[in-house]
Amino acid sequence: MADILVTGAGGFIGGALSAALASEGHALRCVDRKPMSEWHQLVPGADNVVGDLRDLDECRAAVRGVGTVYNLAADMGGMGFIEANKALCMLSVLPSTHMLVAARDAGVERFFYSSSACVYAADKQTDTEVTALREEDAYPAMAEDGYGWEKLFTERMCRHFYEDFGLETRVARYHNVYGPLGTFEGGREKAPASLSRKIALAALTGEDTIEIWGDGEQTRSFMYIDDCVTGTRMISDGPYGSPVNLGSSELVSINQMVDLLEEIADTKVIRQYDLTAPQGVRGRNSDNSLIRERYGWEPSISLREGLEKTYRWIHDQLAERL
Ligand code: NAD
Repeated sequence: MADILVTGAGGFIGGALSAALASEGHALRCVDRKPMSEWHQLVPGADNVVGDLRDLDECRAAVRGVGTVYNLAADMGGMGFIEANKALCMLSVLPSTHMLVAARDAGVERFFYSSSACVYAADKQTDTEVTALREEDAYPAMAEDGYGWEKLFTERMCRHFYEDFGLETRVARYHNVYGPLGTFEGGREKAPASLSRKIALAALTGEDTIEIWGDGEQTRSFMYIDDCVTGTRMISDGPYGSPVNLGSSELVSINQMVDLLEEIADTKVIRQYDLTAPQGVRGRNSDNSLIRERYGWEPSISLREGLEKTYRWIHDQLAERL
């Protein structure tokens, strides 16, 4: 009988989280809407279920008997996807809402929700020389249109389900997560995976011109998947508190990331900048004061170390096909 439910378990982070929990001997139920053949990782021995959590009855079936829920199910992707699919991203409010209702009614003991740095107000992210975002910067609210508003709304539902119904909710704001087994093509991929793919293809084929979205000076921080899983567990297991940043504070520009990938790949590329492509905010970093204060920990895997592993994995996937 499963004691932990992971939703969105067929996705990148849900797959990594499920694998980590299973390796510690937890009995899992893993639910995702995608056909199992498309899951990033499939945990053997788990109660793996294909189900659409927009439907309240599917949520009730999913939470049956479990004490802990990690609710990661959402329609999401990189900037290219979320800017072109605002309504679809907002419709994640259905699994978010129905999962909370089902968890409350079933007496779930712990409910973790994966929010996002996209909740932060756009006017605090207009410069590449960013001041790292503190949790209070989400208000007054001006979240990323579509995707960010749904995340902010669900954060507040988690708070009020705790205050009004006693459901033990925990919320982390993830900042750009990357790593092996992530999406690296098809339109939902994010910058580290997309650039790794482009540079790996250049290394493999000799076609050395790559397209970069924007002028490459936009800045971000990127968290390696292992740090994301560690932080998620810590926040979920810890005491109740307001939403907390879970991200790396190592700020890089996209151009610096390309420099790093060129070194890792031992390849030089010609950069062609597409100034009309989606770029998101100009600069964003995670202020980690709160996570350090609460848990005595913060993500620390360096971009170089994480990118090495990610690049090698994507390179090998592509090499197998050529
Ligand atoms: P992902 O797209 O790989 O995984 C999400 C999964 O949810 C998908 O497999 C999808 O099929 C599933 N899903 C969507 N709607 C569903 C539904 N109605 N019923 C059942 N399953 C459904 O994304 P990810 O990168 O693994 O992200 C996991 C969570 O973390 C999401 O909530 C996302 O918004 C959040 N997040 C991710 C990042 C990041 O950088 N990857 C950053 C901030 C927040």
